[in-house]
Formats: sequence, structure tokens, C-alpha cells
Amino acid sequence: MKNIIILGAGLVGSLLSIYLSKRGYQVTVYDRRPDPRQKGYVGGRSINLALSDRGWRALEKVGIEQKIKEIAIPMRGRMMHDTQGKLTFQPYGKEEQAIYSVSRALLNIELINHAEKETNVTFHFNQKCIEADLDHKILTLENIENEEITSVSTDFIFGSDGAFSATRLAMQKTDRFNFSQTYLDYGYKELTILPIDGKHALEKNALHIWPRGNFMLIALPNTDGSFTCTLFFPYKGAPSFDSLQTEQEAFAFFQAYFADIIPLIPQIEKVFFTNPTSSLVMVKANPWVYQTDFALIGDAAHAIVPFYGQGMNAGFEDCLVLCEILDKNKDNWELSLQEYQESRIPDANAIAELALNNFIEMRDLVGDEKFLLRKKIEAKIYALYPEKWIPLYSMVTFSPKLRYSEALSIGKKQDKIMQEVMQQPDIQTQWESLNFEEIVRKLG
Ligand SMILES: Cc1cc2nc3c(=O)[nH]c(=O)nc-3n(C[C@H](O)[C@H](O)[C@H](O)COP(=O)(O)OP(=O)(O)OC[C@H]3O[C@@H](n4cnc5c(N)ncnc54)[C@H](O)[C@@H]3O)c2cc1C
Repeated sequence: MKNIIILGAGLVGSLLSIYLSKRGYQVTVYDRRPDPRQKGYVGGRSINLALSDRGWRALEKVGIEQKIKEIAIPMRGRMMHDTQGKLTFQPYGKEEQAIYSVSRALLNIELINHAEKETNVTFHFNQKCIEADLDHKILTLENIENEEITSVSTDFIFGSDGAFSATRLAMQKTDRFNFSQTYLDYGYKELTILPIDGKHALEKNALHIWPRGNFMLIALPNTDGSFTCTLFFPYKGAPSFDSLQTEQEAFAFFQAYFADIIPLIPQIEKVFFTNPTSSLVMVKANPWVYQTDFALIGDAAHAIVPFYGQGMNAGFEDCLVLCEILDKNKDNWELSLQEYQESRIPDANAIAELALNNFIEMRDLVGDEKFLLRKKIEAKIYALYPEKWIPLYSMVTFSPKLRYSEALSIGKKQDKIMQEVMQQPDIQTQWESLNFEEIVRKLG
């Protein structure tokens, strides 16, 4: 039996451990953080996140989606807040379709518990990898509590140690490894809207967006009645993290752009300075595989910006696709690893591009009338020809069998067609009499 070490007990590493243990491998997971079940959840990249169909499909395959549904809140559309506090609801898809807000900590703990109790995975926490010898499959680990150094060896290593992966760093020292890391000129800051009388202060089943041109605030619901808000904001310029230096400046900023949340976040001008500002990084790597016994997965292979809510979903999909390939090849790893990276790298690149584009859509266009009309027209085409024209958001979010790279390519064609449609005179008043069949035919 193959012994497998997974470095990183984050969302993707924990799910991967379940998949591999179910295949009969002996799986051991190491993570530098303390056990989140004993010491609370440390760090993490956001308090909650949006789980959608690709992620659900991967959870379903190992039988834990029902458990996760119990801790997830459906969000059926975007609730836009304008500067006057006026609300507009825009459904994400058909009536029953939703994305789900889930606590990162609870999700991670459920995955670890399931891996440990329902399968046979062993976890070691407080173990930071300080060196990875990929040729000999040896990891050097430092116990972060007592600084003790140990070495562990195995038959196979998965690097699921996130955007700043130590195992990927070892890959960077191998021949012909391509790698890029790019920071956005934007950072993010999380703020909390507390419950009112134990209930959600805003509509619970929506992802709230305050689009403000080149910046935005979003809020996702939590099961305790609170919302986690995230302000995506430039580092420099006016306004920016740089330009807001005093509590008065911060208060005036919220008053000008987000007046409706001031009563919901007590002392907003103070928490703005006490809560940390975090950066947004994108990472691309190629190859993801070294020899026949090492592979990158999840953010270690493809960290993307969070604007499509797909980073974790894509990482979960990596696990599913890898195991489908192993099924097909009867666990021939050499063959399967090549297929895994050949199939996943184009998809990871596609969702990276889609996520960047969606930032513009979320922060700017969702408040734009022409853009909203275009969405309405596309929704109508989708309703008339559901097999032939699926809007891009639905392809990415609600069509888990369609690859990200296919969604991107179809989306580009749709964009070209819709740009022409929107040029038509009197489109605002005449859109209902468009020849929808002709529009769909152009897609081929
Ligand atoms: C603000 C924000 C919002 C997001 N929202 C969404 C969303 O709505 N939907 C979505 O799908 N995705 C979202 N994402 C992306 C999502 O967070 C990531 O894609 C996901 O966490 C990747 O999981 P992972 O297990 O690959 O990496 P991580 O979650 O980063 O886990 C990596 C693990 O490796 C461990 N580790 C790291 N280095 C070492 C080392 N040297 N030794 C030992 N252990 C190590 C870490 O302690 C950690 O436990 C968001 C990201 C951000 C930043």
C-alpha cells in the first residue's frame, strides 16, 4: 500500500485526505497550525466563503455534503445597496439555484473530523515544513511549540499548503518550472455586522454588495446571525487605505459611501483601524507534478483572487478530477498525474482570468443600468433556450460538469454577441422584441 503525506490540513488538504484514504491509501497530514478543534481556528484567508455547485459535487462524492449543508446558508442572489440605501435584488440563476455561505472554520473542522473518524487519516498539527526534499520524498518539520525538528519520509507527497506553499518553493528549484506571483493593487479588510435581537440585520439569503466604482463592500451571512463584510479597497489613491489615516476620515468615508451600514457596525471608525488589512495574491505554476510521486493541489497550485468565489471550489474540484482520473487508470499514478495536470492547468488559468474580470463586474457594473439590462436580456434568452445559452455566471457557478476553460471560451463568444445586441438603437425600450432565436444561433 502506498503511504501518502499531505502537507496542509486546510480546506483542500483535508478533503483530499478523505478521497485518498477511501481509495485505500495510508494518509498522514501535517499542518503548521494548531489543531483547530482544540485551540480555535487560527488565521485563514477569510472568515466565511461561498460554496457552490463544483464544491458541492466534490463533497457529495465522498458523502459529506449533507453534514456541510447543515452549516451553510443559501444565498439566492446579489442584493445591491446604492449610496442612498436603496436595495435591488438580482437572482443568481433559476429560483432553486443558490450559492452557500459557510464558515471556513466550521467547514475545515467538519472535514478534519470526517477524515479522522470516518476514514483512517492521521493528522499532526503544529508541524511547519521548513524543507522539502522532493527527490527523496522527505519533509523536514519544525514543531512550532517546542522547536523540535523531525524528518518524515513517504512514497508520495501532495503539496496542499496554500498560496505561499513550502513544497512549491522546492519545485521552484527544479528544472523548467514556471511560476508567477502577482499582487493586486487592492487589499481587503473584514468587518462584522452583529445580529439584531439574535436575527440577521440584513436579508439573510443574499450576498450583499455595495458597488462603488473602483472599490466595493460585500457581506455574507453567518449562522450566528452576524454578517462578515469585506471591503475591497485600493492601497493608494483617493479614497484608499493610504488616504484614510484618522478616525474622522474613516467615518466620513463610510458616511459618504456606505451610510446604511454605519448603524450596524458599532464604532466603525475604530474597528476600521483595529482589524487587519490583508493583501490579494495570484499564483500560477506549471508543472504541478514532479517525477511520479509529488503533486501540487489547491491554492499551492493556483491561488486566484476571490471575486468569483471559486478558489476553494476549484481546489475541491481538483480532488474530484484527480480521483476520477485515478479511477479510469486503475490507480496508475504515473499516467494519472500527467492527465491531472494537463486537464487542470488550463482550467485553473481560466478561472484565474474569470475571477479577475468579475472584480470589475462586481465593484462597478452591477450598479450600471445598461449592464443590468444586458443581464435581463441574457436571463430571458436562458429561459427561452436553456440548453443553448447559459449565462457565464451560471456556467461557472451552477454547471459543474462544464470545465472552467469551456465556460471562459463560450463566455467570450457570448460577450461579443451581446456587445452587438446592446449597440442596437432603443435597446432600453425595444429589448423584448429582439429576435432571440437569431441571437442564440450566432453562438453556433
Ligand atoms: C478574502 C478571500 C475570500 C475568499 N472567498 C472564497 C469564496 O467565497 N469561495 C471560494 O471558493 N474560495 C474563496 N477564497 C479562496 C479560498 O480561501 C482558497 O482557495 C482555499 O482556502 C484554498 O484552500 P487550500 O487548502 O488549498 O489552502 P489554504 O486554505 O491556504 O490551506 C493551506 C494549509 O497549509 C498550511 N501550511 C501552509 N504552509 C505550511 C507549511 N510550511 N508547513 C505546514 N503547513 C503549512 C496552512 O496552515 C493551511 O492550513 C477566498 C480567498 C480570500 C483571500
